[in-house]
Amino acid sequence: MSRKGILTIISGFSGVGKGTLVQGLMNQYDGYALSVSATTRNPRDGEVDGVNYFFRTREEFEAMIGNGELLEHAEYVNNYYGTPRAYVEGMLNDGKDVILEIEIQGARQIKEKMPEAVSIFIMPPDAQTLRKRLVGRGTETAEVIDKRLKRAVEESEGIEEYDYILVNDVLSESVEKLHNIIQSNHNDSDRNLEFINKIREDVKVFSEGE
Ligand code: 5GP
Repeated sequence: MSRKGILTIISGFSGVGKGTLVQGLMNQYDGYALSVSATTRNPRDGEVDGVNYFFRTREEFEAMIGNGELLEHAEYVNNYYGTPRAYVEGMLNDGKDVILEIEIQGARQIKEKMPEAVSIFIMPPDAQTLRKRLVGRGTETAEVIDKRLKRAVEESEGIEEYDYILVNDVLSESVEKLHNIIQSNHNDSDRNLEFINKIREDVKVFSEGE
């Protein structure tokens, strides 16, 4: 039975630990492919072009939009972010479960186009932990941190639109929960219609000749 990959959208407030969680999933389990987004924001220390993001100018990014190269795109705290289409479609056809780590506007666009996608919103155990993580990470200026926290207020309005929430407290447990949510979706009857129909046809022989 050939199995098509599941497209999974992971969203969550800035500083909630989405990146570490997704990295943990990739390291621990096979069968996943992580989509690398394009962005116009500047690389952080240690970030590598083509690994963390495809870092692009605004002009280059707008050309990608114009050429239909992006599955979705959005503006987040003064920068563009978007998902390259070709990689995602190729990996899904190869049967890989593809992970998109994107914000809410992009998540809405994907759900509109591909309602079978699974969406998960990563929650902090409490709001103070979120603030502490974002400040402690030390990768953003105070002004950007402030904008990202304000954005969290807006994003919190849309959490119910997601299929699942996942509280990211103990990392190893969160990785396992994430894996279980995605894998249990492979058992969804709607995703197995071909197999169901085959068995349905095959059992008909039992009633033949009666
Ligand atoms: P950061 O600058 O912290 O790497 O990412 C900022 C926000 O942009 C995060 O919420 C992240 O999930 C989101 N993001 C990253 N890549 C994409 C993308 O391709 N599309 C959309 N819509 N959001 C993205």
